[in-house]
Amino acid sequence: MSLNFAGKTAIVTGGANGIGLSIAEHFLDVGADVFIIDIDKAAWEALAARHDGLKFFHGDIGEKTTSEAFISALPCPINFLINNACISHGGLLSVCPYEDFERMQRVGVTAPYYLTSLLLQQSLLAKDAAIINIASTRADQSQPDTEAYTAAKGGIIALTHAMAISLAGQARVNAISPGWIETDKHNADHTDSDKHQHPARRIGIPNDIAQMTLFLCDNEKSGFITGQNFTIDGGMSKLMIYHNAHNWKFDKDSQGVFPL
Ligand code: NAD
Repeated sequence: MSLNFAGKTAIVTGGANGIGLSIAEHFLDVGADVFIIDIDKAAWEALAARHDGLKFFHGDIGEKTTSEAFISALPCPINFLINNACISHGGLLSVCPYEDFERMQRVGVTAPYYLTSLLLQQSLLAKDAAIINIASTRADQSQPDTEAYTAAKGGIIALTHAMAISLAGQARVNAISPGWIETDKHNADHTDSDKHQHPARRIGIPNDIAQMTLFLCDNEKSGFITGQNFTIDGGMSKLMIYHNAHNWKFDKDSQGVFPL
């Protein structure tokens, strides 16, 4: 993909690890200036030497005052805001406490809204900007005990089309819903069943999400796309599963469904 974002500026929340780091590196590769905000200072310190183009702000986007301090410290208007940082809490079965459920929504939904709002209020959102919200296929599918995370991911998809309409003419706003993306290079030893349960016959990697992010930020390539959610999951959420059909078997003892 030949892109040139020289002179453009991006924010990547949660950019010190995983998918966010890959997105930040892809922006750097095409000439953008990149600001990361992340709670993980140790990860950043390990990265800083090989990424002197990245600017790092240490802080928790779940805290209102942190988001305010971060946006106030920006030296220039922002072309791309990538709302990527997230955490995960349980749900009904593990009795996720009120405070943890509420914090999950603050990090996953309130912060993307509030960072956008601050950029707008402080005239720091560039004309023809792009905002990408990283959601999840878990907005549409669940395992037990995932209410806190699932609610946040459903929220950010709804937030995406609301912001796309409010910001029409100023910014395009889209969401990406990853499926299983392996972010731990040391844990890449997956079984054949892990891979084959995906129609794409592999597990996702951060690059899969970063490529789509940059595409959606480029006005020439995606200028007619706004308010949408793009699933990138190797086709997993499209797979119909029936016991004893097409190599799938329901295991009564573990209450699980496995590829044979
Ligand atoms: P990760 O845990 O590897 O990285 C998340 C980053 O966000 C970390 O650097 C972390 O320190 C930072 N962060 C967390 N809470 C923060 C806060 N309050 N303030 C600032 N920074 C904070 O996660 P990942 O797997 O790279 O996931 C990135 C995004 O993709 C998340 O929104 C996640 O929900 C979504 N996602 C991931 C997968 C997957 O399989 N990896 C699947 C679906 C969706």
